[in-house]
Amino acid sequence: QIGRLRGNPSDLGGRSGIVLFFRDLTSTRRLEAMRADFVANASHELRTPLASLLGFIETLQGPARNDAAARERFLEIMRVQAQRMKRLIDDLLSLSRIEMRAHVPPTEQVDLKALAAHMVEMLAPLAHERGTAIELRLPDRPLTAQGDRDELLRVLENLIENAVKYGESGGRVDVELACAEGPDGRPQAVLAVQDYGPGIAPEHLPRLTERFYRVDVAQSREKGGTGLGLAIVKHIVNRHRGRLDIASEPGRGARFTVTLPAGE
Ligand code: ADP
Repeated sequence: QIGRLRGNPSDLGGRSGIVLFFRDLTSTRRLEAMRADFVANASHELRTPLASLLGFIETLQGPARNDAAARERFLEIMRVQAQRMKRLIDDLLSLSRIEMRAHVPPTEQVDLKALAAHMVEMLAPLAHERGTAIELRLPDRPLTAQGDRDELLRVLENLIENAVKYGESGGRVDVELACAEGPDGRPQAVLAVQDYGPGIAPEHLPRLTERFYRVDVAQSREKGGTGLGLAIVKHIVNRHRGRLDIASEPGRGARFTVTLPAGE
């Protein structure tokens, strides 16, 4: 933004003139730009499978009308594309619901050990498909947090699912829940999800929680990703006054750690 500053000639050492100065975009305008960007990204992500669906519908109405084998194949592709659109819309709705509640502190007392065990069980079929073993380590003592059960389940789901999807196939994923003492002396719940896959190059780490940011778009799509999972995790963790840390040594895997205030 360019502004004009008219100098008083006496302040300018007797010279009169105009000084141009640059001001950074205000935070409101940055927010507007981010929103516009988000809408453009979301529209693009929805438009791609929709265009493919339309293409197949036209083919089925035309050239492939009487080809039973092609019809079966195309219907399966169409189902996958429609599924992808549904997943994206579900993720967009989750994100907007979490954002709407961002300033309302969650109130349930959530049993984190039961939650982690439940999610590992839910993801067992996916892990089995990839030949991955999920190792769950839980603390001996009960561990709770004041939170929203469904949102915390979502955090576990996204992190463990990513570790299985992007980790080494036929490998191992470690899920560890532990209790630690925070800097203020209060108890913290620490959840770490570690995989031993290719990991993430350092330049991507700071951007991973941005909406639609993916290291490899084709790979994420192929694995059924929407690019919103980690953005959802970050929002949920923030709402719970927690922290998300991501560390990775390329070639040796990635570690996602969530730290939350724990029940006393
Ligand atoms: P997606 O739906 O694409 O999985 P996410 O927001 O969950 O979206 O993750 C963003 C990107 O971060 C992924 O596309 C992938 O490139 C990268 N990523 C996430 N988790 C891992 C992991 N455990 N190992 C390697 N890369 C990962």
